[in-house]
Amino acid sequence: MPTIKTLIIGSGPAGYTAAIYASRANLSPVVYEGFTPGGQLTTTTEIENFPGYPNGTTGNEMMADLRTQAERFGTEVRSGYVTKVDLSKRPFTVEINDGEANLLAETLIIATGATARYLGLESEERFRGSGVSACATCDGFFYRKKSVAVVGGGDTACEEATYLAGLANKVYLIVRKDYLRASKAMQERVFKNEKIEVLFEHNTVEVLGDESGVTGALLKHNDGTLKEIAIDGFFLAIGHTPVTAVFAGQLELDEQGYIKTVPGTGRTSVEGVWAAGDVQDPHYRQAITAAGSGCVAALEVERFLSMHNS
Ligand code: NDP
Repeated sequence: MPTIKTLIIGSGPAGYTAAIYASRANLSPVVYEGFTPGGQLTTTTEIENFPGYPNGTTGNEMMADLRTQAERFGTEVRSGYVTKVDLSKRPFTVEINDGEANLLAETLIIATGATARYLGLESEERFRGSGVSACATCDGFFYRKKSVAVVGGGDTACEEATYLAGLANKVYLIVRKDYLRASKAMQERVFKNEKIEVLFEHNTVEVLGDESGVTGALLKHNDGTLKEIAIDGFFLAIGHTPVTAVFAGQLELDEQGYIKTVPGTGRTSVEGVWAAGDVQDPHYRQAITAAGSGCVAALEVERFLSMHNS
């Protein structure tokens, strides 16, 4: 079995940026796209904060451009996902699509990203895509002049509630504690916004709806009182889960499952394995920071290979 010099798992901004740098350095990288080719950005619409796009771009356009750029320098992009790894010795063994292929990789860059968390309610699952969403910037547009709810009390929830208040007539922010975990500045924006009503100490019992989609939510106060709200959209902002299950037990993860890296290097607990992007970053989660960490990982790989192969 031929050994791949640099295997990159994941095709978001971190994976493709790593691929651009690795291919320009003649490391013949192979990218496995994973479950969501192009990553989380393909589920957003406008991107206005990525430097170099004065008129903005879209998530799909940006990811297609990144792929083209990586391929231009010789990156091989394959569809498929990693189902098992053995990182106990180099070259590492990587299983694709439950045994469809097994690969050997001299170095590995993990850029598998993170996925949005849901509450786990059956009714929430039923209305996913017809009123239930985990991305206000993707779907907020459909709720102009309507009523929506956002679940969560962190920065994301406050940011999404504020964003939605710019479109909808009414936004409920459903918070399970009696305080917001978000930064003071973010909290102030929420409290100042007349369209946002914060429902502290409430949990969602059920998302209500009919064949047209979501029509409301049944909430329970911590004192046991039930309350029904009429809404057209139900947004989750309760955090993200890093996509690291396949690496558990082989790499050091933090208590939330994010891959632990040496700050500023992307180096993991296993020599020859790097992590880049949201899979190792619970804080910033931006396309630009993911891209930057992909670049760092590729430069590190280049250095590592030149030291080990000389
Ligand atoms: P956080 O983990 O900070 O917050 C998650 C929120 O969801 C908490 O309020 C938590 O409640 C609540 N929650 C979790 N599970 C449930 C549940 N089952 N039911 C109800 N509520 C639930 O995640 P964020 O995505 O908000 O932020 C992640 C990181 O990104 C943070 O470090 C944040 O500061 C950063 N960020 C920064 C931004 C900025 O500066 N512009 C924007 C967005 C994110 P509880 O408090 O009770 O645990």
